[in-house]
Formats: sequence, structure tokens, C-alpha cells
Amino acid sequence: MKVLVAVKRVVDANLRVRVKRDGSGVELDNVKMAMNPFDEIALEEAIRLKEKGAATEIVAVSVGPAKAEDTLRQALAMGADRAILVQHDGRTEPLGVAKVLKALAAREAADLVLLGKQAIDDDSNQTGQMLAALMGRGQATFASEVEVSGTTLRVTREMDGGLRVVELALPAVVTVDLRLNTPRYASLPAIMKARSKPLAKVPADELGVDLAPRLEVLHTEEPPARKGGIMVGSVAELVDKLRTEAKVIR
Ligand code: AMP
Repeated sequence: MKVLVAVKRVVDANLRVRVKRDGSGVELDNVKMAMNPFDEIALEEAIRLKEKGAATEIVAVSVGPAKAEDTLRQALAMGADRAILVQHDGRTEPLGVAKVLKALAAREAADLVLLGKQAIDDDSNQTGQMLAALMGRGQATFASEVEVSGTTLRVTREMDGGLRVVELALPAVVTVDLRLNTPRYASLPAIMKARSKPLAKVPADELGVDLAPRLEVLHTEEPPARKGGIMVGSVAELVDKLRTEAKVIR
């Protein structure tokens, strides 16, 4: 089973994201970037499937600027066998990325495409769903457990009210949730070894995909600053404030 894993380069999840003064987007100059955390989980799952003997090859794919090569090298250091960079400067959108992944899944004859449930920069939660629709294949979103048996995939999905187990035939698309696994750190020898693993650069044109954005970002703003808390003297005062100031109870 060949597995394609989509990994996006985003602002490091540990940093506070700052909105540009003119509201045109978020500050990316001189900001530490990293692999989207959900994509690390997707990649970890692919590596575990390979360790169990269920997957034979893992190909990491990123659509982004030349610098996304660093993200792909990280994927190779964690355990991907090969990487493909579809170079694109500027914003990527779920539809364009889904079209790229569809073309690469066909070219690579991938049996499974693993993605994060969402990229933490734009929180779209769309790419996997669009990809499954474009491929005309089954999808399981928000996976918290993945099992392969032959050409069937059994996926436990996280829902608001609990869990749902679904079965789907390969090839399939799976988007992963937070509780699926804890991604490993790449060891120093693995980081060194990753430098010589194959990383191909494929232009979007060659895949017949137009990555030009279909959306225009009109404005970006910071969430309102949180007001400081206060200490109340008694339960009665708390109830009164909840009723008259916060107006959350009657
Ligand atoms: P989104 O639909 O933008 O929230 O992204 C969902 C998932 O799609 C991410 O977790 C990635 O696995 C994948 N993805 C989105 N954009 C890209 C990109 N530019 N390059 C590679 N993978 C991506």
C-alpha cells in the first residue's frame, strides 16, 4: 500500500500569530515556520502503518514556497521515503491543493492519501473533503484510529457526541484528528539521512493545475483582547454579576 501524506508549511504552532498593521494578512516575515501539527500526526500514522507492514512506501507532498523543502526534509527525517514539492509562492487554497493531490495520487498510484483535518493557518478543513470528491473515492474525516485489512480501511471518527466507526475501500482519503497518535521526534542520524533521500520538484503546470487563488482575503483582524478577571466576595455576588453584567443566566 502506497501512502501519500500532505504536509503544509505553516507558522509554528507555538508562536503567537500577529496580524499585519494594514489587516491584509498575518505577519510571515522572519517568523518561525513548521509542519502543520495535524500533518505531523498524519505522517506519524503513515510511518506506523509501514512499521506494521501495512504500508510499503510513504511519499510526503507539499504545495508551497521553495522554503517548504525544509518541511519536506523534516517529513523525510521522521520516516517518509520520498518527497515531492509543488512550488508555489503566495497563498494556497484547498481547491488548488486538492487538485494537485489528485494528480499526484493518480501519478503515484497511491492507495491512501492522509491529510491533517485542518491547516492551522487558515483553518479551512476542506482539502481532504475536496480531494475525496475530486477522486470520487470514500473519505473518513477526523480519524482517531486507522486499521487496514487487505483493501479495506476501518476508521474510527471523532464526532461531537462520541465516536463512529466506518469502513471504506481503498483507494481512500483520510483526514486525521489530534488524538490519533503522538508524532515522534526525528533523531539526529535520521535528520542527516534525510538530506540524501529523494525530493522531487514538480511544477503545478506539469500537473495541469492552476493554483491561482479563487478567494480574495478582504480583511484579517486579531480577536478582541480579553478583559482581566476579578475576584468576587461571595456566591451571591457571582450569581448577581452573571445575571446583571454577563447576562448569561436569568
Ligand atoms: P485545510 O483544508 O486548508 O484546513 O487543510 C487540511 C489539510 O490539507 C492539511 O492538514 C494538509 O494535510 C493539507 N494541505 C492543505 N494545504 C496544503 C499545502 N499547501 N500543501 C500540502 N498539504 C496541504
